[in-house]
Amino acid sequence: MEQRLVILGGGESGVGTAILGKKKGYDVFVSDFGKIKNNYKEVLGLHGIKWEEEKHTEDLILNADLVMKSPGIPDKSPMVKKLLEKGIQVISEIEFAIQYTKALTVGITGSNGKTTTTMLTYHLLKQGGVNVGLAGNIGKSFAWQVADDKHDVYVLELSSFQLDGIIDYKPHIAIITNISPDHLDRYDYDYGKYIAAKFRITENQTEEDFLIYDADDEAIGNWLKMNKTKAQLVPFSMTKTFENGAFATEENINININNEEFVMPQDKLALEGKHNVKNAMAASTVAQLLRIRKSTIRESLSDFQGVEHRLEKVLKIQNVQYVNDSKATNVNAAFYALDSMNTPTVWIVGGVDKGNDYAELMPLVREKVKAIICLGIDNKKIIDAFGDVVDEMIEAQSMTDAVKLAQRMSEKGDTVLLSPACASFDLFESYEDRGRQFKQAVQNL
Ligand code: ADP
Repeated sequence: MEQRLVILGGGESGVGTAILGKKKGYDVFVSDFGKIKNNYKEVLGLHGIKWEEEKHTEDLILNADLVMKSPGIPDKSPMVKKLLEKGIQVISEIEFAIQYTKALTVGITGSNGKTTTTMLTYHLLKQGGVNVGLAGNIGKSFAWQVADDKHDVYVLELSSFQLDGIIDYKPHIAIITNISPDHLDRYDYDYGKYIAAKFRITENQTEEDFLIYDADDEAIGNWLKMNKTKAQLVPFSMTKTFENGAFATEENINININNEEFVMPQDKLALEGKHNVKNAMAASTVAQLLRIRKSTIRESLSDFQGVEHRLEKVLKIQNVQYVNDSKATNVNAAFYALDSMNTPTVWIVGGVDKGNDYAELMPLVREKVKAIICLGIDNKKIIDAFGDVVDEMIEAQSMTDAVKLAQRMSEKGDTVLLSPACASFDLFESYEDRGRQFKQAVQNL
């Protein structure tokens, strides 16, 4: 009899899984508690896949043999609980799709830098002539691409939520970019559980696989001391050096892999900032492991276009540089943004606070920030933290006002940096919306 595959969530990963499931002979049903986008409904219709929206009908779900849930749905949601109580397996898209492809995967996780590192790795491999796909949290879903049988290698951006839903999946090459507290609401406010979720990326790896990680990161270091992985460890560091691994010296990045040495001046990297030196080391390590030519790695690291909303240079107006780092939704990301500033900075910060502790930003703010514009509905914590530290501080309730104020408060040679350290949902639809509004406001100056 046909196996019944129920998919909770009719978004990109859900629809991709549905298509793959159908192709592999499952009786597929998609259920979304919210609305399903019209284009997805059309695709499901074209493939003859049944779906429902704005409800979860128990009778159509609890008879599943297997359930794929979108990473956005927490384990604690009532329907998932019921499924688990009945002993029905609930897995992620990656876990489902991986069994249907022979492609090699590079899995990238971490608290910050996933998208940047994923895009950069993809760029390096693509320029190196690899038939490579980009998936995970980015672009077209992995399952969909597997259904179309497209690529030999996939670079996957994996959130901890996606890793929560794996059983056997193992990337041949895994990267953990860094770990700092984030999304703790989904992990019972237990940092240990969040760290453990990230490390599931290496859980099924064997001696033939590789784990690339930030050797300067405390949480990663502690986990590796206390736990075991079979994967070959390939560290990267800003301070230490390795015979087998990647490291930065005063001027260069160095990647030593398989007795091969790759050296490149840091000032030739397209992306600026210390954090991007790390991202570049992680991505180049993958390229070295997959034996991409050094000249190609070098070229690709210097011509990479960067990713929208991540330290994105917008415009220079009257010799003031405007930078959009709207994706900085936590303190750690804002830390690296401030750290990469080479000029006096007018900093636009604020939004929905996720339990932020601003103490670690204090030295950087003292050194680099001349004025702060608080852009949020409730700015009290920011005012309390930095009110005495900067010369000028002012509140704004719209992006247009914030940018106009920033122009007034800045002078030749300064940088205006939007790096909010907070989520965007008080005044904006999303971080993308916030970033776009910033760019628009700058263009209107
Ligand atoms: P993610 O996909 O993990 O959210 P992004 O690449 O989208 O990561 O970057 C998110 C934010 O973190 C941006 O503000 C970016 O400038 C910053 N960032 C990028 N790489 C790192 C890193 N290695 N460490 C800390 N912050 C980083």
